[in-house]
Amino acid sequence: MSSVIDEKECPECDNLHGFWEISTSGLEYFFCDKCGYSVNNENGKSKHYGGIGAYHIVFSGGGGQMGSFKTKKDVIGFEEDFKKEGFFKNGVEEKAVEVYYYFKKDGKWFIKDLILDKEYPVIIKEMFDRLERK
Ligand SMILES: [Zn+2]
Repeated sequence: MSSVIDEKECPECDNLHGFWEISTSGLEYFFCDKCGYSVNNENGKSKHYGGIGAYHIVFSGGGGQMGSFKTKKDVIGFEEDFKKEGFFKNGVEEKAVEVYYYFKKDGKWFIKDLILDKEYPVIIKEMFDRLERK
C-alpha cells in the first residue's frame, strides 16, 4: 500500500495546513490539527468527526502526538491528566517538551500552553512559525 500525504484546508476552520492522506487502497484521511475536525473515507463510506480544538504533544526525542477534543469534558480531562502527572511521557520514557492545545473563545482561536501555563492568540504562534521557516 502506498499513500500520498499533503496539506489541505480545513472545511471547519481557517487552518490551511490540515493533514491529508490518501492511499492506493482507497483510504482517505483528513485531520485538522487546529479544530480537531477529521474525516475517514473508506470504500465510499465517509465518517466525519467534529472537534472543538486539538492538542499537540512534542517529546524530547522529537516525536509527537496529536488528537482532537470533541467536548469541553475532553479538554478538562486532558488538563487534569497533565496536572496529575506534572508532565507527559511517551512509551519510551521521553518527556514532553511541548504541550499545548487550540481552543476557540469569543469567535477567535487561542493556544493554551500547559507547560508555560499561558494562553495567547493563535496569530502570535503563526507569526513565529513564519519567522522560523525563513
Ligand atoms: Zn479545522
